[in-house]
Amino acid sequence: MKFSVDAALLDADTIRNRAFIELKSKLLNDTSSTVLLKDCHALRPFINSHDHLIGNWYPPAIEHTFTNANRWVNDMRESPPVKERDLIFRNTLPMDFMKGRGKLLSRLGGYKNLFSGVTIVQDHAPRQKKSYYDMFPIEIIRRYRQCHSISLGNFWGGEDPVEEWKATKGTEPFIVHLGEGTDQESSREFSRLKELGLLQPNTLLIHGISLTRDEIKSCAEAGASICWVLTSNLQLIRKTIDIDTCLLEGVNVVIGTDSTLSGSINLLHEIKFAHRRFPYIPLRTIYRMISENAVRALHLPHKNSRLSERGNESLLLLRAHRSDPFENLMAVNNDDIILLVHKGLPLYGFRKLLAHFDIYDEDYFFYAKDGIERFVIGHPEKIMEEINHILGYPKKLPYLPFQQ
Ligand SMILES: [Zn+2]
Repeated sequence: MKFSVDAALLDADTIRNRAFIELKSKLLNDTSSTVLLKDCHALRPFINSHDHLIGNWYPPAIEHTFTNANRWVNDMRESPPVKERDLIFRNTLPMDFMKGRGKLLSRLGGYKNLFSGVTIVQDHAPRQKKSYYDMFPIEIIRRYRQCHSISLGNFWGGEDPVEEWKATKGTEPFIVHLGEGTDQESSREFSRLKELGLLQPNTLLIHGISLTRDEIKSCAEAGASICWVLTSNLQLIRKTIDIDTCLLEGVNVVIGTDSTLSGSINLLHEIKFAHRRFPYIPLRTIYRMISENAVRALHLPHKNSRLSERGNESLLLLRAHRSDPFENLMAVNNDDIILLVHKGLPLYGFRKLLAHFDIYDEDYFFYAKDGIERFVIGHPEKIMEEINHILGYPKKLPYLPFQQ
């Protein structure tokens, strides 16, 4: 089946105007038809390089700012939002999100991403059981090794960082929070990382607020990647990484939302915020950070950052408020997603487009918003019913569009 769209963003360097984009799926009723869509852009779904799916509670658990996020990790446990979240599920060590009601919260984190056009997420946590990754309709990266942070180590589960890195054999990303603060302890983390031999081409550093120009240069030389987590950084620390030096030195920069306990509401909010704060960074560069740079940092197949005119199994169709696809990205919200398909499976969008797929209605939740019938895979409304039942009152989360 083909979609006729005003423009297709094939990759960060290629816009095709008035394009026909093919979707390949075993579920399509009629593979030869063409659907004409007015005011619509086609893109590859996005990649969120840093989240903690279990932590997507709201509002943020930040009562004041910190000079080092390690102190927030302790403080937040006593904050009202985390105490409320603990009524649903309380983390125990080592972290296993399949225990108790962990699944409820993690699946909500999955929906946060799905509703913003993200189909690939790096969930920074100790590696979970296979059944954890299997339960999401989107892809939560399974091939990675990690350390919570250089100063706190792997208190939450996993081997020591050097063992974790060795286990990557250079073919999986090694992911670590680093320099999330402005104090001495934060600034010491980078030299410690280097001493341990962990500044490697497959290293993905999260935050890097404390990094000096020379340290950023070393990251570029080593071919390491850095995840920019702007909203979370400004909310927690009031400072972010020296992004100008990162771009000047050619560091492979990716973007992450973090969880809503410290970060942005979703990836669309995050990129819009980055654009507002750094309007001189080309939009194309920001788009690279949620597509091809993320593919490189997370060791994903290249097709995950590219749309083709033929044979796409994953596709994002967005309502076009602006003619330029990059400018349009800064104008859309999750209600502008006309269709999101991941590996041939329709996940979210306008119900009239679901009619082209041979699916079971009971596998979907339907709701109307702004006069448009919409669908989403699975039953996030039932997750919320269960949560409301446990809390004894209705809970609203800003990333669930059917609640807004
Ligand atoms: Zn984090």
